[in-house]
This record gives sequence, C-alpha cells and structure tokens, in this order.
Amino acid sequence: MNATPERESVDASVARLFESHGATALRLRQSTAAERRLKLTKLLAAILERKDALLEAAHRDLSKHPTETNLTEVLPLVGELKHAIAKLKRWMKPHRVGPTMATLGTRSRVMYQPKGRCLLISPWNYPLSLALGPLVSAVAAGNTAILKPSEFTPHTNRVIKDIVDAVFAADEVAVVEGAADTATALLSLPFDHIFFTGSPAVGKIVMAAAARNLASVTLELGGKSPVIVDASADLRGAAEHIIWGKMVNAGQTCIAPDYVYVHRDVADRFVELCRSTIAQRYGDTDAAIKASPDFPRMIHRRHAERVARLIDEAVQSGSQLAFGGASDAESRYVGPTLLRDVPAAARIRKEEIFGPALPILTFDSLDTVIAEINAGTKPLALYVWSKSERTIQAIETNTSSGSLCVNLCLQQFAQHNLPFGGVNTSGIGNAHGFFGFKAFSHERAVMSAGPLSALEMLFPPYDARKRRL
Ligand code: NAD
Repeated sequence: MNATPERESVDASVARLFESHGATALRLRQSTAAERRLKLTKLLAAILERKDALLEAAHRDLSKHPTETNLTEVLPLVGELKHAIAKLKRWMKPHRVGPTMATLGTRSRVMYQPKGRCLLISPWNYPLSLALGPLVSAVAAGNTAILKPSEFTPHTNRVIKDIVDAVFAADEVAVVEGAADTATALLSLPFDHIFFTGSPAVGKIVMAAAARNLASVTLELGGKSPVIVDASADLRGAAEHIIWGKMVNAGQTCIAPDYVYVHRDVADRFVELCRSTIAQRYGDTDAAIKASPDFPRMIHRRHAERVARLIDEAVQSGSQLAFGGASDAESRYVGPTLLRDVPAAARIRKEEIFGPALPILTFDSLDTVIAEINAGTKPLALYVWSKSERTIQAIETNTSSGSLCVNLCLQQFAQHNLPFGGVNTSGIGNAHGFFGFKAFSHERAVMSAGPLSALEMLFPPYDARKRRL
C-alpha cells in the first residue's frame, strides 16, 4: 500500500521534530534543579491561567461538570506539579552506596541522568491529567518530549497545545495531534523512552514497536479492577464510595471499580444502598438522570453502543437488572446500571467495562473470590471493604494488583508518594512523584577508585600470589 502525500508529510514533519530534539536532549543533560523547577513553575502558571478554558473543554469533550473536572483532572495535576517542584532537588541528588567485600577501597554512587528524547502517548478518558501528568515527570527528569494526545478530545487538546507552546520551545516539548497512524509514525523513531497510557491491546503494539529500537517503556494500561465487600464492611460507606468511583466520568476511569463481590449475607442491603445512592445523586428516573448536569456522557457513539451492548447481552443471558439499563447512542448516554447474578460467560464479566454499569456478584467463601481473581489477569487496582484485619491480610498476601485500597477507591491516584502503575497486562513501570521521575531517568552507576585497592593484591600470576600469602 502506498502512503498518501499527506501521510508522507506528517511522517516527515514528526521525523524533523524528533531530529530537532536530539541537540536539546544533549543540552538538557546539564540542566540544574533550579532550571527544571523554573520550567515546572511556568507550566503550573500556564495551567492555572487556563483553568476556565480547561473546564469548558472537558465539558465539550465529555459533558463533565466543572467541579468533577476540577476534582479529577486539575487538582491531581496541580498536586503532581507542586510535589515535583518541592521535591526535585532531593530527587536529583546522586546517592552514595557503600562498598562490598570485593570493592573495598572504591567509591560508588547512583546518579539520575535524563533518558533523552521521550514520547508520551495519552488516552481520552482524563485528557488533561494523563497527558500533562507524565510530562511533569519527563520535564522534572530533564528530558525532551513529544506528546500525542488522543484524537477523541479535540477541545482539551487545543488548550493543552496552547499551554505547552506557551511554556516550551518546540525543539524541547511539542504536541503532535493525530490518531493511530500518527502514533505509528512516531513509534518508528528511536526514542529513548516511551510512556504510554491506554488499553492493553495498544500497549502490546507500543511495546513491540519499542522493542525494534530497544527503547525503554512505561505502560499504564487497564483491565478489570474488582471490589470485595465482606460481611463486616460499613455497607453505607462502601456503597457511597463504590458508586462514586464507578459513576465519576461515567465509569470511563482506568481504576474504576469494574465489578463487585459482596458477601451473600449483606448483598441485598448493599444493592439497595447502591440504588438509593445513585437515585440521590443523579435522580431516580431515566429522564432525571439524563437531565442531571452531574452525570457525564460516553466519549463517542461507538463507545456508548459498546457499553449498552454489554448491558443488553448480560440481561439476555439471565442477569437481573437491579437499576437502570437505559441508553441512547445518539446523545452518547448510558445510564447508571446495577446488574446482579451475571453469568460467568457474559462478555461484561470478561472485558473491561469502562462505563457506568456495575455487576454485583455474591460470594460465600473468600478463598473462592481470591482464586477467581488469581485466575484472571492482574488488575490495575483491587479494592476491599472490610473491618476484618484477617480478610484484609488474606487479600493483601494472596493476590496481586497495581494498587490495593482498603475502604476507599480512586484516591490512590492523588497520593503522589505512592507508585501508580499496573502489573503485566495492567501495566509495566510506574508513574507519579519520585516514581515518575525515575521512569524518565537512567539510574547510572558511577564508581571510582580510591587511594587503596584490595583488587591489586589479587592480580596474576596467581601461583606467585599464593606463594606470597
Ligand atoms: P487506546 O489504547 O485506544 O488509545 C490510547 C492512545 O493510543 C491514543 O492516543 C490513541 O490514539 C493511540 N493509539 C490507538 N491505536 C493505536 C495504534 N494501533 N498504535 C499506536 N497508538 C495507538 O486507549 P483509550 O481508548 O484512549 O483509553 C482507554 C484505555 O486506557 C482503557 O483500557 C483504560 O483502562 C486505559 N487507561 C489506563 C490508565 C492508567 O493510568 N493505567 C489511565 C487511563 C486509561
């Protein structure tokens, strides 16, 4: 297949941009903490100056209430920036390590060197914080960056480009808009590090492309994040937080509770509390929820149809509809939905839902739940609601996931002192704070000889040495 002239010109322009980042990356190796902090401070100011434009853009892209955008996008991003500005000097400090027996007499330290030219590819669901959050870490670590945001959030992208162009020269940080073909052109270039946030399916494509140049990768992916509610849990608190975690951004959140295991003894009460929480927050009829300014829309028609189909198939295969179930692809609306008794074979039990539908399954034995979780791919997040230390301990020891949260959900995204990432199919490597800084840094080993060397006593001829000893 021949490339079109437009395609060729996009490919040539990204290649030129990449070239221009080469000299800048070498220069940035010498950048000081003060210089990097100044850039981050300018970035923070540029974001805050355009806050209203960002809130308006998120409303146009996802019909999100400004308060929700502020809480889930602006505040975590501002927090990430302030944290990096405050801690960068300490993060950049090389740290000394002691000698081993075999290296007595030498001095060793680990220094953090910028990786160089970095590529950031971001998704549409939190188009601001998932594009500029990784950029904070890339800049803090002294790199150049090309950022390719998702093609599905044109309004937010426009403000992001305006922010980046106001703070950085194009040969240091540039925004390149486009879809998969633009990402493919970028991925053919020998970047030093690729930071990708998106689906596991595209994550595999990104990792394969990175392998051709042996570029290092950070992959922030997704999957199904389960919730366990045991019989000892504060059920009202659980319902209030789980419904918030599921319905915020209309379920289009990588760490959203995907489905719930609730103990049989408290299942009816839990479902009732979920139902009343939805009704209280968004309305108790479809018309009321549709009219609520607090409930966002799916990103595009295709995604609305996909989530609606998952719900319909679940109902057709025998699931009980405990709330909602309505959708309208034309207006990209899928209503908050609760499903019970969902058969294991239903597609909604297998695919990441990424929408406002919550399957609620009952359990009798925690061991069975743990075995089921371990039989699937490792989740990005695992949530437990319980007052029992034994339950919490059993889950902590016997399962694996990117993060484990007890009696809360989603807040781990705003805890910059914790690594944020997945395991295998839910991700490779970490973001946020020092962990993000490390993702974009090469930990270089520097070792120097001291005045005395134990090794010199061991030089050949060995037999002569034996005679000397
Ligand atoms: P996606 O993988 O479809 O797209 C992500 C980015 O990759 C976009 O910029 C897109 O243009 C690009 N892309 C698409 N196809 C490509 C291809 N063939 N080659 C190269 N690049 C390509 O993901 P999405 O639909 O935007 O986001 C939803 C997914 O992202 C969910 O699985 C969700 O769980 C995950 N996610 C993960 C995190 C995290 O931090 N772990 C955060 C948000 C979303």
